[in-house]
Amino acid sequence: MIPLRKNISEMAGYVPGFQPADEAAWIKLNTNENPYPPSPQVARAILAEVGSDGASLRKYPDAGSRELRAVAAQLYGFDPSWVISANGSDELLNNLIRAFAGEGEEVAYVHPSYSYYATLAEIQGAKIHTFGLTADFKLADFPARYDGKIFFLTSPNAPLGFAFPLDYIEEIAQRCAGMLVVDEAYVDFADATALELVRKYENVVVTRTFSKSYQLAGMRLGLAVARAEVIAALDKIRDHYHLDRLALVAASAALRDQAHLEETVARIRATRARFVAGLQAIGYSCIDSQTNFVFASPPDRDGKRVYDALYARKILVRYFSDPLLQHGLRITVGTDAEIDTLLAALREIG
Ligand code: PMP
Repeated sequence: MIPLRKNISEMAGYVPGFQPADEAAWIKLNTNENPYPPSPQVARAILAEVGSDGASLRKYPDAGSRELRAVAAQLYGFDPSWVISANGSDELLNNLIRAFAGEGEEVAYVHPSYSYYATLAEIQGAKIHTFGLTADFKLADFPARYDGKIFFLTSPNAPLGFAFPLDYIEEIAQRCAGMLVVDEAYVDFADATALELVRKYENVVVTRTFSKSYQLAGMRLGLAVARAEVIAALDKIRDHYHLDRLALVAASAALRDQAHLEETVARIRATRARFVAGLQAIGYSCIDSQTNFVFASPPDRDGKRVYDALYARKILVRYFSDPLLQHGLRITVGTDAEIDTLLAALREIG
């Protein structure tokens, strides 16, 4: 017998959204990727870094990601010592658990939200507590004082798409004895960010990703903003060369082109409004979305039926068999043309 740790042999492991091998044959609206290309500055920066012969790749990247952190710090108005970059925001979530929750200690998250928190807690051997949602999207039974080591609050929420109001997030921060991690993977599509809470409360961390609004899911890039002591702890834990040279220059170039970000976000938000109107016109109910996806339920509240019918037409959306979610589908906001094809298919499927 191979002597695995008990919690590793017993855990199932995270299952990412389906990535078909014949990608071009599908309309892919199942993993909240952005349908538009990143800033042209990104490819330019990568090509410049590679050069004609790839010579720069002989050398290790900057272990401190200093330029990228400086660009991000300036953009968000924090000292660089309050910012860390990472190989996807997934890396940050992983290292936050490792920094704050030991074996047997409690971590919490909202159900439904991002199920990867559970996988990370299982690897760590931490205990998991989930908080449900009330009908008006507040936390059910959240105590006056929550003693868990770390609470992951996905806002805007995935897979439902709503955002918690900022004053409510602040109240949660005050009620957490441990760390509050506000996972803002989708915040660029939303109306408000919790970044100001990082300045106000020492237990608040905000995480961001480049995978959605910056159109760089394929590069694996994320950021966190927190007190310098928290960032220093995350720096101790991470792999020293976790970001390669190409990822570093790509991320800095993307952050520097805020005009491109604003333009893409505006396009997605406009398509989102049109998409929701189209869904409502055929009797679907939609949760108000602050993200680049919409959680929508067909009139018969049978998400699986519609998922299967779309799959047969080579349109991929996300269905969750969870009893809280099986009445609907999480659908990424694609291009206008993709959304038109999807709406036509939904009209046919009925
Ligand atoms: N948080 C949430 C809520 C997400 O949906 C995702 C993407 N699936 C992530 C974090 C991870 O993003 P990244 O690609 O930066 O690892």
